[in-house]
Amino acid sequence: MPKEFVVGVDVGGQTTKIGVVDARGDVLSQTVIRSDTFCTDAEAYINALAAAIKECITLAGKTDEDIRGIGVGAPNGNYYTGEVAFAPNLAWAATGSVPFAKLLTEALGGLPVSLTNDANAAAMGEMAYGAARGMKDFIMITLGTGVGSGIVIDGKVVYGHDGFAGELGHVTVVRNNGRACGCGRTGCLEAYCSAIGVARTAREWLDSTDEPSQLRDVESITSKDVFDAAKAGDKLALRVFEYTGTILGRAFADFIAFSAPEAIVLFGGLARAKEFLYEPMVKAMNENVLKIWKDKVEIVFSQLKESDAAILGASALAWEL
Ligand SMILES: [Zn+2]
Repeated sequence: MPKEFVVGVDVGGQTTKIGVVDARGDVLSQTVIRSDTFCTDAEAYINALAAAIKECITLAGKTDEDIRGIGVGAPNGNYYTGEVAFAPNLAWAATGSVPFAKLLTEALGGLPVSLTNDANAAAMGEMAYGAARGMKDFIMITLGTGVGSGIVIDGKVVYGHDGFAGELGHVTVVRNNGRACGCGRTGCLEAYCSAIGVARTAREWLDSTDEPSQLRDVESITSKDVFDAAKAGDKLALRVFEYTGTILGRAFADFIAFSAPEAIVLFGGLARAKEFLYEPMVKAMNENVLKIWKDKVEIVFSQLKESDAAILGASALAWEL
């Protein structure tokens, strides 16, 4: 019998989403478990995950016989080694390396598991089912708590010689006195253009000026607060997005010089601020890109339903198994 179904698993810092997917990209069943209640016990987490995967397969009315494999997107997931290594947001993989794919295959009685980082999984999802369908060269940028990226060249995700390629969130965008980044360096794109970076820009500007802003009444500002303020016409909040979009656009101009993509595809919570980010991004990109690519590279936003996108992205990996 042909194995016509795959399972997509999206490992996040707080929750892990699991879904059974068919070849058309329909999610037949899905479930969620916590990622953060297992502390440093990787095996306990993986056993709970295996149980949830089995339940999800049953829920879809399928058996192991119908499943081609399990695709997993996880922060710092390594495609070559199947390990999750030094992932600061996952307590069970924060200080070392966990042989994730091997342990999960064992816990599932032999079902094959393929693993990559979450941004690469998102790129595969967009290529299989979303905004990048039909594209062979594009760069996926995920704008969430952090900034992730997946680089696709000639229809293939670039993994590099060690499996970690595509850390564009950690290119330096401010060389002198740049902000400290979670990676231990300074001036990274992520320190400015992630959800955390946006909130930080707002706080810095509020602290350094007397400019009136509705954000002054907010106790601990999040990117969502800045977004809501911008929607209400708050001038400072609008400028925060203009600043963020400009830094992103400049960075895209550099990325384009590397792989000549057809498009930059954006995904993630912060990409919801499209109405405020798009114009400054396009402007800064075209002002800074080499002339041969001026006005030629599109910036597009993910078309996948947000609740399914992470599962679909991870599942796309399992079709290769
Ligand atoms: Zn960094």
